[in-house]
Amino acid sequence: MDHFLYRDGVLHAEDVPVAEIAASVGTPFYLYSTATLVRHYRLFDEALSWGPHLVCYAMKAASNQAILKTLAAEGAGMDVVSGGEYARARAAGVPGDRIVFSGVGKTEDEVRLALEGGIRQVNVESEPEMRMLSEVAVSMGVEVPITVRVNPDVDAQTHAKIATGKSENKFGIPIAKARAVYAEAAALPGLRVIGIDVHIGSQLTQLAPYGQAYAKVAELTRQLRADGHEITRLDLGGGLGIPYTRSNEAPPLPTEYGQLVQETVGDLGCEIEIEPGRLIAGNAGILVSRVIYVKEGEGRNFLILDGAMNDLIRPAMYEAHHDIVPVIEPVPGVEQVAYDVVGPVCESGDTFAKGRLMPPLAAGDLVAFRSAGAYGAVMASEYNTRPLVPEVMVKDDQFSVIRERPTFDEIINRDTIPEWL
Ligand SMILES: *Cc1c(COP(=O)(O)O)cnc(C)c1O
Repeated sequence: MDHFLYRDGVLHAEDVPVAEIAASVGTPFYLYSTATLVRHYRLFDEALSWGPHLVCYAMKAASNQAILKTLAAEGAGMDVVSGGEYARARAAGVPGDRIVFSGVGKTEDEVRLALEGGIRQVNVESEPEMRMLSEVAVSMGVEVPITVRVNPDVDAQTHAKIATGKSENKFGIPIAKARAVYAEAAALPGLRVIGIDVHIGSQLTQLAPYGQAYAKVAELTRQLRADGHEITRLDLGGGLGIPYTRSNEAPPLPTEYGQLVQETVGDLGCEIEIEPGRLIAGNAGILVSRVIYVKEGEGRNFLILDGAMNDLIRPAMYEAHHDIVPVIEPVPGVEQVAYDVVGPVCESGDTFAKGRLMPPLAAGDLVAFRSAGAYGAVMASEYNTRPLVPEVMVKDDQFSVIRERPTFDEIINRDTIPEWL
């Protein structure tokens, strides 16, 4: 459930008419609902309430400071994958002991930043990284809590670009090598082994792959304990999928996921961490865009929007489907028209949907891309010198611009001309 609903024939974000925001901010823009963000975070928190746990929001899904502050106020931790994200989390007021550092290629500068500011744990993804981390920790005179990310070699049955748990993927260390790697970790100064980390991919629509992965983690926990390691925390990653269309089968709910976690690893007495991103932010955001032209092609109609692939790259990058709805509620029973929905960027890949059945639309009409809150604004660029898409947040009957649209001058002035020109 989200909080973008038609009311009196017009799309609202919570209690605010979307058209009112469009008139004030201009299009395109991302629009987030506070109530939906909070609701999704709480679903996970409640799903794990059977034991000690921390829900660490995977902030790469949507990392605006206002979103982070909203979730941090609920008690969320943060899963960060870069020094920049670490700095963002701290700037939003998240204490270091609620920040988990993930990622396959952390640099020395990045881990130094995290160790200086404080970190809950570092999820180590390779032996060279582990040795580097040990050296940095020793040079700073600190001891850093770590887990090792294991690759359980299970098929997450998701899009190839977001599957991470097969042995051919670059993530983690093969689970078969785990005992040797843990032995080395325990021997390295500056590191304190506290647990195991796993993350098998994104947009998972079934529980079975989690079941397989977590069973392997449970087995590994017992082996590592027998080897003398203190395993007190399990970081089980994120990845639970969301429904991108109203029609398709609904992915498992956080409650069902929480039950599976309890069934597979609940008897180990570990603190549980999870790292959901998409499920918290995805349906908490829409992208609002305006129709510039309706162009009749040969045998097809193009709906040319002022939003483009640089604003929302998921369709071009992952063949992703987004429902696109008019901001004015269609009259029931109106005959639908097939549109190719496209943006103005000079690439054929700038196509959001082909032959999409929609109510008839005209230049000037507003449309909303649903389920655009995750991996939307964070992946936006200024390709074609289109200003970085702004972000807006609603809470009840209020809205606020949480990232301004840059002016052309601001964009141009980021460049500097060499002296010789
Ligand atoms: C991307 C990522 C997540 C979040 O995945 P979602 O599908 O957005 O829930 C969690 N953990 C790690 C390590 C990731 O890379």
